[in-house]
Amino acid sequence: MDLEGLRSKYAELTNEQAEGLWFAPGRVNLIGEHTDYNDGFVLPFALSQKAVVAAGRRDDDLVVMHSLELDETVEVALGDLAPGAEGWSAYLAGVVWALRESGAEVGAATLVLTSDVPLGAGLSSSAAIECAVVAALVDLFQLDIDPVERAKVARLAENAYVGAPTGLLDQAASTLCEADAGLFLDCRSLESSLVPLPMTEQGLEVLVLDTKTPHSHVDGEYGARRATCEAAAAKLGIPALRDVEDLQAALGELDEEVMRKRVRHVVTENARTVEAFQIAMNGRLADLAPLLDASHASMRDDYEITVPTVDLAVDTARSAGALGARMTGGGFGGCIIALCRTGEGDGIGRNVADAFAAAGFGAPEWFIATPSPGAGRLA
Ligand code: ADP
Ligand code: MG
Repeated sequence: MDLEGLRSKYAELTNEQAEGLWFAPGRVNLIGEHTDYNDGFVLPFALSQKAVVAAGRRDDDLVVMHSLELDETVEVALGDLAPGAEGWSAYLAGVVWALRESGAEVGAATLVLTSDVPLGAGLSSSAAIECAVVAALVDLFQLDIDPVERAKVARLAENAYVGAPTGLLDQAASTLCEADAGLFLDCRSLESSLVPLPMTEQGLEVLVLDTKTPHSHVDGEYGARRATCEAAAAKLGIPALRDVEDLQAALGELDEEVMRKRVRHVVTENARTVEAFQIAMNGRLADLAPLLDASHASMRDDYEITVPTVDLAVDTARSAGALGARMTGGGFGGCIIALCRTGEGDGIGRNVADAFAAAGFGAPEWFIATPSPGAGRLA
């Protein structure tokens, strides 16, 4: 990452040195897909790819924001911060607004951003930005806010200021994760615990492959899945699908085939996520592989959120030697993850690229993911 470029852009904009650099990572979800809005469990880990902000306080009443990638500067007066703002700068300005909404005494600041989290790939480049800005402002203005509250402030920025209705998964992962660990998060109580993921020690690695499939129907399909889950919970007389205790009995009470399939995905995925947590706590990470495979089959057959590129990537990764693989993220494109033996992930990525070329699909991109620390001060 171009941290020198970041510092010199800050100096160019302000004629001063930045007071510091703060970072927050992107994240990938190991397992637990579409369980969050059903009050269930998720198990993400933070990536080494991250957003970094060079930040400092100002004497005037402005929030000055710059993105190195977009080479664009946006200024907003503190008094003009208001929800519904458009464009990339809303992810930064939204955090200033959210902190002030929560009563924190945050004043004028310059925020210069760079990020190597792939944008719009479902690896949460947005939460990385928000959480990096929260980390910067908390230190600069000496705020006393615990990590879970920091994640909630970042989510408030995304939900209210940007206008994207998301759960706490992305911001919790970006804030609370640690190196070589995942975060097992209860989306109902918001309690979380760290799960050791010593991949290298166990001769494993996680390949993340971006299919580069444009998400076309995502919003409508997401809304439809969510509505079906809520309708099913209402029919079953429970607060959320997380509360289904006996899947067969619940399925017996529902007469629509589509609704039964959606419920089966959510309930089994939630159980797989709990099982993944237990397996990881017992220290046998290779045993996660069958859960990844089962998760993918459930998303493909019951939740019906996979697309041909994603299915081809998962099938190819498996036949090329991955121990287990699944789509990760909301669906209809985006990334897959594959649990591989150390040193084999890159070759498996190349196999998928060959299969994509043969099928006439565009070229995917991939990297080996390292479970990395959550937000903090870089320098
Ligand atoms: P995801 O979080 O999955 O990457 P989102 O749509 O939630 O996708 O967030 C992507 C948005 O975040 C971009 O459209 C852009 O507004 C903002 N963004 C991400 N990275 C940068 C960057 N380096 N500079 C400016 N804005 C960025
Ligand atoms: Mg996002």
